[in-house]
Amino acid sequence: MTSPRRTFAIISHPDAGKTTLTEKLLYFGGAIHLAGEVKARGANRRARSDWMKIEQQRGISVTSSVMTFEKDGVTFNLLDTPGHEDFSEDTYRTLTAVDSAVMVIDAARGIEAQTRKLFEVCRLRSVPIITFVNKVDREGRPAFELLDEIADILALDVAPMSWPVGMGGLFEGVLDLTTGKVSRPEGDSRAFLGKVDDAPTLPPEVAEEVELAQAGYAAFDADAYRNGDLTPVYFGSALKDFGVAELIDALSRHAPPPRPQPAEPAPVSPDNKEVTGFVFKVQANMDPQHRDRIAFMRLCSGTFKRGMKLTPTGHGKPIAVHSPILFFAQNREVADEAFPGDIIGIPNHGTLRVGDTLSERADVRFTGLPNFAPEILRRVALKDPTKTKQLRKALDDMAEEGVTQVFYPEIGSNWIIGVVGQLQLDVLLSRLDAEYKVAAGLEPAPFDTARWIAADDAADLKAFMDLNRAAMAKDRDDNPVFLAKSAWEVGYVADRYPKVRFLATRER
Ligand code: GDP
Repeated sequence: MTSPRRTFAIISHPDAGKTTLTEKLLYFGGAIHLAGEVKARGANRRARSDWMKIEQQRGISVTSSVMTFEKDGVTFNLLDTPGHEDFSEDTYRTLTAVDSAVMVIDAARGIEAQTRKLFEVCRLRSVPIITFVNKVDREGRPAFELLDEIADILALDVAPMSWPVGMGGLFEGVLDLTTGKVSRPEGDSRAFLGKVDDAPTLPPEVAEEVELAQAGYAAFDADAYRNGDLTPVYFGSALKDFGVAELIDALSRHAPPPRPQPAEPAPVSPDNKEVTGFVFKVQANMDPQHRDRIAFMRLCSGTFKRGMKLTPTGHGKPIAVHSPILFFAQNREVADEAFPGDIIGIPNHGTLRVGDTLSERADVRFTGLPNFAPEILRRVALKDPTKTKQLRKALDDMAEEGVTQVFYPEIGSNWIIGVVGQLQLDVLLSRLDAEYKVAAGLEPAPFDTARWIAADDAADLKAFMDLNRAAMAKDRDDNPVFLAKSAWEVGYVADRYPKVRFLATRER
């Protein structure tokens, strides 16, 4: 018997407490914390490439990582999503590889911009969400106000599972609404050190709030939660250890195990015997001298065994996976076996791409890993014209990894790159320089946005392309792309060419 899997991510706005909560989850989950970076195998003293420097300078985590811990017979795979404000496609794609999410909200701030964007991605895929309202040890907004905000902005039912007994200076613990017990702060730190009050006397105003809350909000309903219609809400403090054990317990009891994954010709059930999975992230070696990469694959079905041969659907020969990596929080381990819901790292030399399906027989293809229409376009200006080839290789590589998208205009030789967030541009430039020795700059592009185009009738598509050649480009996979000066122009052109579809996402 393999243990049940809970593969999840934490979504939040910067500063809400994701890092603190992650550390505490690992700590309470019995894993010694070792913060995030996944280093390539066999690495000893490696030069840090420039994008690692960016990461340090800006104090953010550019790279996602995977942390595994076990608690009471359940295996948890926590996929880290970069929490910085600049959005990258990495973040979105990581959410395609989880079965549920924990949404962390700062009690003083409520729902913030990034939380909301990430939530929308979860909703697209019906990923169920447990809410953790953090920092109740500080002065925050009233619990009712926060619950109503979640319900209004996210259009979800909310089911409070616990309740803060005061906040800030008046904070006296967290009431578990199921058991009626209160976890109490203790000592100078005012942290939770294990003191539980079985028969608490609540301050009258808190008792009244609780009564109102229980009458006014939905009761927890496991089906509604798993369908993505209801979110259970836990109040706590990651810093002071309130609500963390309860959160692990909630994940273990309610969060869904690996679900069937959308695929062609048919969805793949985790019970399927054949080993299948998809690559949701590719990370380059941190050492610019070595071009090997790690592809992060989510296992969707079957029991993976070390040395197994897996074939990427649609391209390439079978690859024997001799040194797969599993991500236990203490260190990375070479995996002998992995089960649906697990993430394995597959070292490779650039053969594996984001969006690839890997399987034993190569007759299945996972769908739903989107490319997103870029929000920022830039023209790449090469400083040394003899480096054109290297530049093309670099741009193709990075498009493969999902660092940026690249568009090759039909007219002219100024290649255009597209990103969803500013940070991706910094990563691109420093890697061009460090890894590919290509000095390049970025200039404003004459376009502001891009859409993939399609039509039922190839003749309609061709007619459109012929008439708009100056705005046409190809992406890395030769798909036609329309470059527009503004979102308004997209709308205008779309009205004039009703037979052509203008797509903001492209599935691979
Ligand atoms: P992230 O940006 O979401 O990863 O947030 P961090 O975990 O880095 O936390 C941001 C800041 O909030 C740090 O100074 C934390 O110490 C602080 N913080 C996190 N959780 C709590 C909490 O429960 N209570 C209080 N008072 N501060 C917290």
